[in-house]
Amino acid sequence: MACRRRGPFVAGNWKMNPLGLEAARDLASKVAAAAPELGDGRLVLVPPFTALGAVAGAVAGSAVALGAQDLYWEDQGAYTGEVSGPMLKDAGCAYVLVGHSERRQLFGETDETVNRKARAALKAGLAPIVCLGEVLAERDAGRTLERVDDQLRLGLAGFSREDMGRTVIAYEPVWAIGTGRTATPEQAQEVHAHIRARLRETYGNDAAACAIIYGGSVKPANSYPLFKERDIDGFLVGGASLDAGGFVAIVQEALRAYREEK
Ligand code: PEP
Repeated sequence: MACRRRGPFVAGNWKMNPLGLEAARDLASKVAAAAPELGDGRLVLVPPFTALGAVAGAVAGSAVALGAQDLYWEDQGAYTGEVSGPMLKDAGCAYVLVGHSERRQLFGETDETVNRKARAALKAGLAPIVCLGEVLAERDAGRTLERVDDQLRLGLAGFSREDMGRTVIAYEPVWAIGTGRTATPEQAQEVHAHIRARLRETYGNDAAACAIIYGGSVKPANSYPLFKERDIDGFLVGGASLDAGGFVAIVQEALRAYREEK
């Protein structure tokens, strides 16, 4: 098999887990300390807004990047409770999640708002990690690829080739998030290959280099077989990212698969 272009891209979404600043610093420092031995891995930590400052300090000077869990599409103004792209950039973020299924399901986000947020992220110099994926009823009805196509078309509307080069796509089947039920490597690969083909069709061959990562109950035990699939470029990890050892092991297992291909 041809060598992959890049090592695994792995982001840890801490969600709204109230770790406390000291524990947040400790977790981030442990991941940062492990980063040198994960040379080819690209790592991002995505803490709650309140811990961005603490985590930024803990990962400063390391290979670990900082991400936020959401943003609003306006740059500034009377939008109580919201945080903008420039504010996240100022806080040290390089990435931001957009359209996580929890935001779509619990906070009414639509493909249109996802698009506004993703474009705002790019405008602020942040790389959006655009999350998409089907719910169980859509999978059971055989509509997974159709749903993913809609999310790509609407969520990435107006994107240029260059925008695409700065964007990460996270395929996260909703039925696999936080449920302990992971997509099989074959199920995930089918959708990743489909996404890659669509991106190539729309944005040309450069889009083949776009990182398409999988999310949904990723753990050290399933990281290796998932990363063995040729179109899975890494992971968006929720629950398992709250333990430094487990998170690092996920990256190590993906790297094991990566190195076997070299
Ligand atoms: C996520 O938060 O994006 C996620 C995939 O969560 P978990 O790994 O817990 O399923």
